[in-house]
Amino acid sequence: MQLVATPALARPTSALLDSYGRAGTDLRVSLTDRCNLRCSYCMPAEGLDWLPNADVLTDDEVVRLITIAVQRLGVLEVRFTGGEPLIRRGLTDIVARTARLEPRPHISVTTNGIGLERVAPALAAAGLDRVNVSLDTVRPDTFRAITRRDRFDDVVRGLAAAAAAGLSPVKVNAVLLRGSNDDQAAELLGWCLAHGYELRFIEQMPLDAQHGWSREAMITADEILTALRSTYDLTPHPAERGSAPAELFLVNGGPGTVGVIGSVTRPFCGDCDRVRLTADGQVRNCLFAREESDLRTALRSGADDAEIAARWRRAMWTKRAGHGIDDESFLQPTRPMSAIGG
Ligand code: SAM
Ligand code: SF4
Repeated sequence: MQLVATPALARPTSALLDSYGRAGTDLRVSLTDRCNLRCSYCMPAEGLDWLPNADVLTDDEVVRLITIAVQRLGVLEVRFTGGEPLIRRGLTDIVARTARLEPRPHISVTTNGIGLERVAPALAAAGLDRVNVSLDTVRPDTFRAITRRDRFDDVVRGLAAAAAAGLSPVKVNAVLLRGSNDDQAAELLGWCLAHGYELRFIEQMPLDAQHGWSREAMITADEILTALRSTYDLTPHPAERGSAPAELFLVNGGPGTVGVIGSVTRPFCGDCDRVRLTADGQVRNCLFAREESDLRTALRSGADDAEIAARWRRAMWTKRAGHGIDDESFLQPTRPMSAIGG
């Protein structure tokens, strides 16, 4: 989709619009930059500085910003992420308070699934609508190699508990890594289909803390589809894609599906409806943005809701047309994915 900037005079006063006319209706809220796994495409094996506790928004501050986003800025969906959002102690309460908002947003969590077995019923009761669980392999040894932790069984039990709690459809996010799990795409799809989980493959993006991404090592959307087609018949899903990043396919004629998110080779920036809030209260208008807008300082120095909403709108207005990974001038954001919120 070709984007054309709107003249500044046409700048709106309510929704989270950018200068290309896109509206931020899907808010990703990072609740922590910490994690109990160490996925190689996300974090180094050791040594990553965490945000100071004092900088992390309190539960009340998080809920206040979500309330402003929903009631003043037209946000329709709230997704909690991280780092690992399940290690945030106040998660269930934050979900419950978000679910009481009018209008009520759609609420989801992206998690690695560790601990989900225990909290899935409480999250569902609090008003959580759906979960995405990240799982890159169904082989425990490959899981251990990628995540550097021996927690495969916890994730499998977490997935089952999410389905049992009615957090459906349960979605699975997977990243393929060359020489590691790139020969397991069809196997993972078979497992997800057998369990009733909706699988989505995500192209690896240059967002790891150790800056180890390379285009050559990335498994592309084309490669993922070729690998899946060696076992399955894939046909484009008839449903309208809208702003969804995943290209959806029916597997063997359906009803099972698989999605491929070609963030790098098939960018969907023209239809992007996302806006991000980091755990320390910074608005990012794009995963790949190089600038952030500080709402925490405004919040803590007594700004009222109208002023915070105005700051948030200004932050969104400057969203760039695309992530520019293919531009020669592309620079990876200073913060890694785990600190931005995936
Ligand atoms: N810890 C939670 C999890 O793993 O689901 C939530 C945060 S994680 C950063 C969110 C998603 O980003 C996960 O599905 C993960 O696989 C994905 N991810 C992390 N680093 C990535 C990268 N460099 N490229 C593509 N996806 C990545
Ligand atoms: Fe943790 Fe998620 Fe990053 Fe893996 S992808 S290290 S689970 S934040």
